[in-house]
Amino acid sequence: MSIAEETIEAIRARADIAAVVSQYVTLKRRGRNLVGLCPFHTEKTPSFSVFPERQSWHCFGCGEGGNVFTFLMRIDHLTFPEAVERLGQQVGIPVERSRENAARRSLRQQILEANQAAAEFFARQLEKAPAAQEVLRRRGLTADSVKALGIGYAPAGWETLSTALGRSVPREVLAQAGLVREREGGGYYDYFRDRLIFPIRDVEGRVLGFGGRALGDAQPKYLNSPETPVFDKSRTLYGLDRARRAIADTGMAIVVEGYMDAAMAQQEGVLNVVATLGTALGATHLEVLRRYAPRVVLAYDGDAAGAAAAERSLPIFESVDMEGHILILPSGQDPDEFIRKQGVDAFRQAAASALPLVEFQLRRLIERGDRSTPEGRAALIRAVAPVLAAIRQHPKREEYVRRLAEEWSLGQPFGMQHIADALWREVRQASVRSGSAARPAAGPSHTAAPQAPADRDQLVLPPRIALAEQYVLQGLLCGATTSDQVFDVLTPEDFQVPAHRALARILWLMDEEVKDPVDAIRRSGGEDSGVLEGLASHMLAEQEKLPVTTKMVTDSVWAIKETKLRARISELQLRLAKLQSEPGEERTRVEKELQELEKELRDRKAG
Ligand SMILES: [Zn+2]
Repeated sequence: MSIAEETIEAIRARADIAAVVSQYVTLKRRGRNLVGLCPFHTEKTPSFSVFPERQSWHCFGCGEGGNVFTFLMRIDHLTFPEAVERLGQQVGIPVERSRENAARRSLRQQILEANQAAAEFFARQLEKAPAAQEVLRRRGLTADSVKALGIGYAPAGWETLSTALGRSVPREVLAQAGLVREREGGGYYDYFRDRLIFPIRDVEGRVLGFGGRALGDAQPKYLNSPETPVFDKSRTLYGLDRARRAIADTGMAIVVEGYMDAAMAQQEGVLNVVATLGTALGATHLEVLRRYAPRVVLAYDGDAAGAAAAERSLPIFESVDMEGHILILPSGQDPDEFIRKQGVDAFRQAAASALPLVEFQLRRLIERGDRSTPEGRAALIRAVAPVLAAIRQHPKREEYVRRLAEEWSLGQPFGMQHIADALWREVRQASVRSGSAARPAAGPSHTAAPQAPADRDQLVLPPRIALAEQYVLQGLLCGATTSDQVFDVLTPEDFQVPAHRALARILWLMDEEVKDPVDAIRRSGGEDSGVLEGLASHMLAEQEKLPVTTKMVTDSVWAIKETKLRARISELQLRLAKLQSEPGEERTRVEKELQELEKELRDRKAG
């Protein structure tokens, strides 16, 4: 170890682990300790804990843990000496390192130093470039903002930076930092030329890379540093160093598409704004933002491209189990323009009343659709189904289905249930098509039981029906109902959750005299008997906590039957609509079955 042990101990003693971790994770006090969302794994409820008295941290979710140095090593991918050195700087204890050691400083460290030197170089150049200053002034950025953001200017020459920095930084390091490029015939030339330069920093203010905006008509208009060992666009957000405190305080992060938009918003006092860097918003960006706030609002340009970008981000939000929101700007305006024209309060207000992305997407589809004809309605139902299927939180999905069914059945001869059934059927199919149903999703807590393999359908069922099925099976297992009462109305095939269906088949065949159904299931010897035995035990345990009554079973049997009847009825109605113009045997048959089913439905309702 090249750093003296006493130095390491002195730094450890002076550092406050809570303060260090707080730079990355929003912590809440819980007793003597602090908790927050773990930065090392995806979670929704905090299991990441910091213990100030022991100066240690531990995540009960993923098992990571350690001291203040290991935290820095883990989160910023540092070596141990780098972590010690970094913390030493923060607490004011300089770390002496041997000469030989300095030569072996990691490439990462050297790139960061080169970037810092380049940022200072660009800032100095701006002072000598009135044309560049004029562009910034015209865009409305004040001198104070320019200074605070460290905005600079890359001169038009081919070797200005490489000559100026080449004296102190090896050209190879400048190349690794993406600041210069190697010429084919040897030598190097500057990567950024005649551009405004926006330094891109991490949460500690270290310069990771640069964004360059063309001053004239040069293409591309926006040019970012290439990916380097320190610059990863998929996880970096412009402005996060300045915005993170405000994001944590307001509980909301606003994401814009350009650094100019972010800079303007921050200047005008909307501090919780960050920008993506010429890449689409990705899952990693969201995971970074979630460390600070649960709510992410997209503020994209109010044109078709902005809407399309918002549309594409919907599955990304769903993939990390977050609800995205979108702020709709008047057509053709970007956030920068909006703030200049309407003012900062209007922008804040718009952000606060941003629409959930799901709703935005549904509205767009509904606007394009035609609900006045049966064909139009069927097409619309097919169009919205994939959006609904992508929603992984079941109560939320149920709520949207209910609202659409309510809205679409208003003033129509058919009932709301008719639309709801048709929606659920399409949602189920869309889930199977996209494979999204196979992903783990939080179902209603009652059904958090062992699941049979290939349990795809269960995850997209209305929870009401999954619960009804559970009540019926639970009632059968504990004797709250008899096999006859259930199976006079239902067949095992009426159960839609595959595990429930399999269990129903066994119970259907089971002798009434069986005393221990769980044991009988075990001995049934089917492929899934282990899983089903677990499911049955779980249901019996549920019965202890929340007993199912005979009335609950009877109601549930009816609910399952009704869902089946209604699904079949709307299927027949759709087919009848298609057959409308061609009388014949087929149409007569459909009409007859429809009449019978509708009568059955009425009779059951009547009692
Ligand atoms: Zn964790």
